[in-house]
Amino acid sequence: MVFDPDVVHAKYLAERDKRLVPGRAAIRDLTRDECVAGYRADPFTPYVERQPVIDDPEVVVLGGGIAGILAGAHLRKVGVERIRIIDAAGGMGGTWYWNRYPGVMCDVESYQYLPMLEELDYIPTRRYAFGEEIRQHLQAVADRFDLTRDALFHTGITQATWDEGAGRWRIRTDQGDELSCRYYVLAAGILNLMKLPAIPGMDDFSGRAFHTARWDYGFTGGSPGQVLTNLGDKAVALIGTGASGIQVLPPLAEAAQQVYVFQRTPSAIGVRGNRLTDPSFAAGLQPGWQKTRMDNFQSIMLGRPVDVDLTADGWTQHYAAVHNPPRIKGATVEEFMRNAEEIDFAIMEEHRQRIDKLVSDPDVAAALKPYYRYLCKRPCFHDEYFDAFNRPNVTLVDCPAGVERITEHGPVVGGRQFEVDCIVYGTGFEAEITPLQRRVGHDIVGRGGTSLAEKWADGAASLFGMMSRGFPNMFVMPAPGQQSVVTVNYTQLALLGAEFVAGAVALLEKQGVAVFDVNADAEADWIRQIVDTYVDPSAVMSACTPSRLNNEGDPGGVKPRDTNFGRGFGDFFAYRDLLEGWLASGELDGLDLA
Ligand code: NDP
Repeated sequence: MVFDPDVVHAKYLAERDKRLVPGRAAIRDLTRDECVAGYRADPFTPYVERQPVIDDPEVVVLGGGIAGILAGAHLRKVGVERIRIIDAAGGMGGTWYWNRYPGVMCDVESYQYLPMLEELDYIPTRRYAFGEEIRQHLQAVADRFDLTRDALFHTGITQATWDEGAGRWRIRTDQGDELSCRYYVLAAGILNLMKLPAIPGMDDFSGRAFHTARWDYGFTGGSPGQVLTNLGDKAVALIGTGASGIQVLPPLAEAAQQVYVFQRTPSAIGVRGNRLTDPSFAAGLQPGWQKTRMDNFQSIMLGRPVDVDLTADGWTQHYAAVHNPPRIKGATVEEFMRNAEEIDFAIMEEHRQRIDKLVSDPDVAAALKPYYRYLCKRPCFHDEYFDAFNRPNVTLVDCPAGVERITEHGPVVGGRQFEVDCIVYGTGFEAEITPLQRRVGHDIVGRGGTSLAEKWADGAASLFGMMSRGFPNMFVMPAPGQQSVVTVNYTQLALLGAEFVAGAVALLEKQGVAVFDVNADAEADWIRQIVDTYVDPSAVMSACTPSRLNNEGDPGGVKPRDTNFGRGFGDFFAYRDLLEGWLASGELDGLDLA
């Protein structure tokens, strides 16, 4: 394909329209629908009955993933002793606890994604780490700061209520625990709610079905990194070809008798280039290297000039190029837009041509090609995915409108029944567009009996995306679309959030503050800054293929308050300067203190 804007637009819109079908966003509500409760169960750690805990720690942290562990670690550093992390999982790790599917790996370079590498004196074994290494590292961080001892696992918080008289949060859980704490830290993350599509008939399926975030090794055999030994005589349906689905396919194809890959939208899948860490890597590192590396990556992602690209991967070379097209002196807006489009087209074309080189059947290759602008969906990276389609036991089932229905035998597409023993849902998570109050999974009742759901009904309302008026002594770890910023390397944002929470608690303690709340003017001012920089993405994103990045084809449906500090991704460096300046001043500006 050559770059002819009219032809490209027509092709992209035609591909979009195939997918813009009613009901494409319909999902089963895993938090309420008891028919699908089995999908939530923990296959990794047996549930052990325990006595309810009655306790009054200084801090309760909701969530034992990266954000919760880092918050706990930094609170320890400022001397907070009594911290209880609470998580529905059977252990630490959050996303990396649950996502143990074969092939699971992080797309962000390990040297930046695994936190506190210098403090733990650890160098990841590969450029991109597999999930198990990340999970073990997070456990090591938790152990270093002694956070596991008092954690409550397999425990869901059912209610958090501010007790005005006591100046504390009262926390209840589904295990009968009753905790009273001074500070409540929400670290729910954005990938904690699995998305299970509502496909007619799915409950009739008589085989084994599970989500990638609850991989059933009991059924498939094997373990992460090992061959799935029980699948040699089994046919498997893989639904979903996003970041999870594409990683699952190669090990599945290697083990199963037959794999049907149900593809609604092809992902743009760039080169991975994973490799073992060079033994000389560590020797060349100076103290502070990890922060420098994170900043270098973040600078490139935001289009800031750097001397050297330390990461040099698809994020910095493709994503950043499309995200930050060059401003050519004297160019009109139209010329700028056309140049940006041409850069985008060239990168997408490179992705499409890669498929021709790697997939031998031209019809299969054609069906695997993505036709949309690069930023319409989260890009993926893999070096073995396409080759799996050259195997005789792998069949691509292209279904732009999704799987039609599922019978007791398996999925149906175009009237054809695919008989399978197992369905793997690689169908993702309720990420960016699901509000915090749903992701935390319980009522948070603040001053005057107002719940967070009520307060945030028209979108987030906060100071710095991390504190909200009416919810005293409560911190929310920063997250995309929640009045903070977006970072491709989530760890960098979690670290900043953790340092802020710990720094703020240290200041409050030093100044003898029993209770803080956000000042009304400060919150109104922060919300105004968020809303003022909001740009309605409808014009750009409605031309995109539907995805969770454009609210499944309804980009205008995003509330202006549920966006970031600064346009688009937000301005990470300005945000960090602001938070660090706030801590350094020690003035606790914007807070009402008692
Ligand atoms: P995604 O939301 O990216 O992908 C879900 C897939 O399921 C898509 O291919 C989607 O199709 C498909 N799908 C959904 N409903 C249906 C249906 N009814 N019929 C057919 N197909 C359907 O989820 P992932 O779990 O892959 O990734 C989620 C996020 O998790 C990523 O964006 C990333 O942030 C993170 N992640 C990161 C990884 C990494 O770093 N390597 C690995 C895994 C996840 P369609 O595209 O048409 O919507």
